[in-house]
Amino acid sequence: MGKIKANVRQLVDQLAAQGIAISGVTKATLGAPLYGKALLAAGIGTLADSRIENIETMRAANIDAHISLIRAPMLSQVARVVRFADMSLNSEMAIIVALNHAAIAQDKLHEILLMVELGDLREGIMPADLQKIVGQVLRLSHIKLCGIGTNLACRNGVVPDARNMGQLSELADAIEKTYQINLPIISGGNSSNLTWALGPEGKGRINHLRLGEAILLGREPLRRQPIEGLHIDAIELVAETIESKIKPRQPTGEIAEAAFGHVATGQRSGTICQSILALGHADTDPDGLLPPDDMKILGASSDHLVIDGGGHRLPIGTEVHFQLNYSALIRAMASPFVAKTYEDTALYLSHQI
Ligand SMILES: *Cc1c(COP(=O)(O)O)cnc(C)c1O
Repeated sequence: MGKIKANVRQLVDQLAAQGIAISGVTKATLGAPLYGKALLAAGIGTLADSRIENIETMRAANIDAHISLIRAPMLSQVARVVRFADMSLNSEMAIIVALNHAAIAQDKLHEILLMVELGDLREGIMPADLQKIVGQVLRLSHIKLCGIGTNLACRNGVVPDARNMGQLSELADAIEKTYQINLPIISGGNSSNLTWALGPEGKGRINHLRLGEAILLGREPLRRQPIEGLHIDAIELVAETIESKIKPRQPTGEIAEAAFGHVATGQRSGTICQSILALGHADTDPDGLLPPDDMKILGASSDHLVIDGGGHRLPIGTEVHFQLNYSALIRAMASPFVAKTYEDTALYLSHQI
């Protein structure tokens, strides 16, 4: 995982120069302990995941670093959250009260960040309601309010910028003034914050980001551009050829919907040398795969990926290596049919168990 570690080291250093610390987000790897340990070894101080199950996986592998749950806890899981996560991101008083009860029962102090809605319309307290909720949180005996945070770009693609980041800083200042407290963590967002965070503008109070995609794929998610200096090929999906034949380009017969809705369009004449790889919608998002330069993805069903092998017949058994976008990556990581091999240089996702 040398390329992933190199990505971590560069991001840690560049953001430290801006006064920003990183939590390494492990959810795309389902909390793979090897991945969590690699992030920590490369210089990340704290980890974060959206699912308590993944945090439990890392705890079972003796990872004792500070870990945050970055999706609001489910009421039905608060006891597990208090037991295995040091901190959680919250936006509902009913859940925070339940966390407090669980923390009392376990004689623990549970840390929280309050999430603020700044325009993307996913999770977060409306800014006008924030002060009142802080007051309610401060009355809970076993909850420690460590700061505030926000999440942009994930639902509506709202871009982190001087305006919304400035708003988060102002909210932090206002809370500290009203309640005479210190908020040590102001968490500006996810990988989509990197363009702003590494840019020239002042960072205000923002001193923390939660990064997943940028570390794994080396790209910022807003425009999917490579980030200078980062490896974009740290992960490969490897699929095996199970059929290679010359076939007509044009299907024969009356055409209705295909298994995944795509309808073949246009008249296509002649023949093509097409290959089938043992990979499909059940394993990944075929639309998020980037094949080698000379190859083209022609179609996919649940278990078959049909490709144009670049004019020549791929021998049966040939392994084809793809790059993945985030959608393809998280589905491949979650598929029991895809083996995950963490090697020195890269992370390989393949059929070989
Ligand atoms: C997934 C997630 C992140 C990490 O997002 P990336 O784009 O992978 O960096 C950060 N914060 C929250 C709340 C998330 O759900």
